[in-house]
Amino acid sequence: MSVRPLIAGNWKMNGLAKESAAELSALISKANDQGEVGCDILICPPALLVSQMATLAEGSAVSIGAQDCHTQEKGAHTGDISAEMIADAGAGYAIAGHSERRTDHGESNEVVKMKAEAALRAGLIAIVCVGETLEERENGKTLDIISDQVKNSLPEGATAANTVIAYEPVWAIGTGKVPATSDVDEVHNHIRSDLKLLMKDAEGVRLLYGGSVKGSNAAELMAVENVNGALVGGASLKAEDFWPIVETSL
Ligand code: PEP
Repeated sequence: MSVRPLIAGNWKMNGLAKESAAELSALISKANDQGEVGCDILICPPALLVSQMATLAEGSAVSIGAQDCHTQEKGAHTGDISAEMIADAGAGYAIAGHSERRTDHGESNEVVKMKAEAALRAGLIAIVCVGETLEERENGKTLDIISDQVKNSLPEGATAANTVIAYEPVWAIGTGKVPATSDVDEVHNHIRSDLKLLMKDAEGVRLLYGGSVKGSNAAELMAVENVNGALVGGASLKAEDFWPIVETSL
């Protein structure tokens, strides 16, 4: 089954309005120069920039998403942002359960699932992140951890159209370390098999690899069976670094 790849950039807590607009404009103009693009391109800026970036990207090949959302639609949750607000700001996606949120904010699979369900409720595509720590990998627990995260973080009502899974080994994020392609292959095949037990159209779900993806290693990673795109942190901040990753999937 052919699955349209998704190349997603996660800007994390980086970028002020002016420089972010310049980088997004540069990315949009590269996509425009390309004409027909064979993959979906996404940028997830900090929440305060979602509205501005969505306006800038309107009508282009680049979509905008949020890095997180609250589980609830509205209410007494100081400082939080709902999926409905994100959709209202013009975004089409929300990441749920990035390992930095699982670690920094103690987000459990249960919370991640609720956040992903909130994203679906608001009409957003949820990108659910899973990944093992170095200790878990060294103790041979990778596949068990991934299965547990997939099973318990997958939103109710997940379909290939509304849900994306990102496999991001925690030890590979921002470290420059990348697993062997055989390890990526093993985990992605495993996720695909797990999804087949959990949903009807599992074959069509985009499975992204994330963790130190760069222009120099993207082609090799994107060639792995069951890798249908990338979630990119550091190398998504500059259009000139991100575009070569996009180009591997055009
Ligand atoms: C990420 O934040 O999801 C990520 C993969 O970061 P990096 O590409 O910098 O490793």
